[in-house]
Amino acid sequence: MKNVPLALFVILFINLNVFSQAKNKKIMTKKVTKTEEEWKRELTPQQYFVLREKGTDAPSDGGLTSHFEKGTYLCTACNTQLFKSNSKFESHCGWPSFDDAIEGKVTYVLDKTHGMIRTEIICATCDSHLGHIFDDGPKETTGKRYCVNTTSIKFVKKD
Ligand SMILES: [Zn+2]
Repeated sequence: MKNVPLALFVILFINLNVFSQAKNKKIMTKKVTKTEEEWKRELTPQQYFVLREKGTDAPSDGGLTSHFEKGTYLCTACNTQLFKSNSKFESHCGWPSFDDAIEGKVTYVLDKTHGMIRTEIICATCDSHLGHIFDDGPKETTGKRYCVNTTSIKFVKKD
């Protein structure tokens, strides 16, 4: 029975390993990956232009810009919850503006296009383009302005 402790140790080690793998999986965001052909089929031309080709909606007070109902804003492409209505504010910039995103749902990317240095925001789940983040948001909260295209988000009312 000299080998019993070793066998027990091996079993324990394997179990611990499986446990830690399961734990890691939970923390990671489940990625949505599709080919550009699939996105093209599923999205309208305007949605494809903004979400997948990093386009920008024309500035407007319509759409979701001056929309202030209680609820949640989801990614148009993959339905991930991105912003809560309590972080939305009136910025008068022509695009829906938020002072914060739901934790872990938005990824920040350096954007050097159009002769500017900006921080692009993309959906952490499907990498679709949402807009840009600026430092001119409300000082009494985060000071940030998440400037988001109406096309990139859809609103779901709170029950
Ligand atoms: Zn998404």
